[in-house]
Amino acid sequence: MSDAPHQKKNFGEESLAVQAMGVVDPQTHAVVPPIHISTTFIRDADNAYRSGFAYGRADNATVRELEAVLKMLEHGAASLAFGSGMSAALAVFLSLPRGARLLAPSVMYWALRRWLMNEATSHGLQVRFVNMEDLDAVRAAAQAGCDLIWVETPSNPLWGVVDLAAVAEVAHEAGARLAVDSTCATPVLTQPLLLGADIVMHSASKYINGHSDVVAGVLVTRTTDELWERIEKMRASHGMLLGPFEAFLVMRGLRTMHLRVRAACANALDLAHRFQSHPLVADVLYPGLATHPQHEIASRQMKGGFGGMLSVRVRGGEATAIATAAGVRLWKRATSLGGVESLLEHRASVEGAGSPCPDDLLRLSCGIELADDLYADLDAALRAGVAR
Ligand SMILES: *Cc1c(COP(=O)(O)O)cnc(C)c1O
Repeated sequence: MSDAPHQKKNFGEESLAVQAMGVVDPQTHAVVPPIHISTTFIRDADNAYRSGFAYGRADNATVRELEAVLKMLEHGAASLAFGSGMSAALAVFLSLPRGARLLAPSVMYWALRRWLMNEATSHGLQVRFVNMEDLDAVRAAAQAGCDLIWVETPSNPLWGVVDLAAVAEVAHEAGARLAVDSTCATPVLTQPLLLGADIVMHSASKYINGHSDVVAGVLVTRTTDELWERIEKMRASHGMLLGPFEAFLVMRGLRTMHLRVRAACANALDLAHRFQSHPLVADVLYPGLATHPQHEIASRQMKGGFGGMLSVRVRGGEATAIATAAGVRLWKRATSLGGVESLLEHRASVEGAGSPCPDDLLRLSCGIELADDLYADLDAALRAGVAR
C-alpha cells in the first residue's frame, strides 16, 4: 500500500474521512483499496519480516487503514480497532494494574455498567460510581484516590452531558487518566482528546459504521504510553482484533458519517422540539433543548449538533410507554443505535432491576428518514398507546 498522499496536506477531516485518507493501491491504482485477508506473511531469505506483518491475530493492513482514519478524526497519536465496543472498553480496564481505582458514571451504557458492577472486582479493580455531571462530587472522589476516570457523554439513556475539559483537569490533578466513551457524541460532534482526555472509545457498531450491520469498537490515545502498549499486547494475545471484512465495512460507513450524523442531529432536534409540547409526553431528554440542565456545556463541547439520541417520558407510565412502542410502524422496536434507520426502545425493560432508567421512558435513536414521517408515526403510536 502506498502512503496516504492526502495525509501530508491540510485537507479537512471530512474530506479525509470520505476518501478513507486517500489510500491508493500502488499496483492497480484502485480508488477503493483492496481488503487484506492473509493471516500469514512470507519471511525474507534472512528470516526477517520486511512488511511489518507476521500473523493475523495481532495486526491487519485493512484494519490499519481504518485506524488511520480514526486517529486523524480524533486527533490522537494511535488507534486500535477491536471486535466490539465492549472489547475495546474491557481492554482498557483489564490493562490497568491490579488494585487500580476506577471512577465510573452512575448513568452509563448498561452492559459496561453491569460489567463494572459484577465482574471488575474479580479482576482486581476497585470501582466507584459517581455523578459525572456534578464536578464537586467527581473532584472529591478523585482526590480520595483514583487511577482512571471513565465517562460517557451524552450518557445513555438520560443524555446528561459531562464537561470533558473540567473532568480532564480534575483527573490530571489527581494523577489519574481520563477515558471517554464518545459513542453517542461521534467523532463528528466532539473530540475528547483535544479537550484533555487521554483515551477515547467508540462502539463503531453505532454511528461510525452507521448501518446496523457490523459489531466493532475503537480506541484512540493521546499518547502511546505504557498503558497503551499493554492494551495493544492484550488485543493481540486475546484475539480482540477486528476482522478485515468488518474493517472494510466500517470504512465504507465512515465515508458518509458526517452526512449521516448531521441528518440524525437535525431529526433529533426537530423531534425534541415537537415532542416537548406534545400533550402525551411528560418530558423530553435532549442536550439540544435550552431547558436541558447541561445545555450550555453541550453547546460549547459539541460542534454542529447535539447528537441523534433522545428520550421521551410518556404520560401514563410504564404500561403506556410499552403500548406506545407497540404501535410504531416506521420506527423499529429494537436495541442499539446510530444506524440510518430510526430505532425505539423501552429501555427499563432491557436494563432491569438497579437501572437508573425511569419506566415511562422510550429511548429514540433518530435515523435519517424524513422528520415529518418520524413525528407522525410516533405521534400516532402515542395516541393509540393512551387509547389502549
Ligand atoms: C453499544 C455501546 C457500547 C458497546 O459497544 P458494542 O459494540 O455493542 O460492544 C458501549 N458504549 C455505548 C455508549 C454504546 O452505545
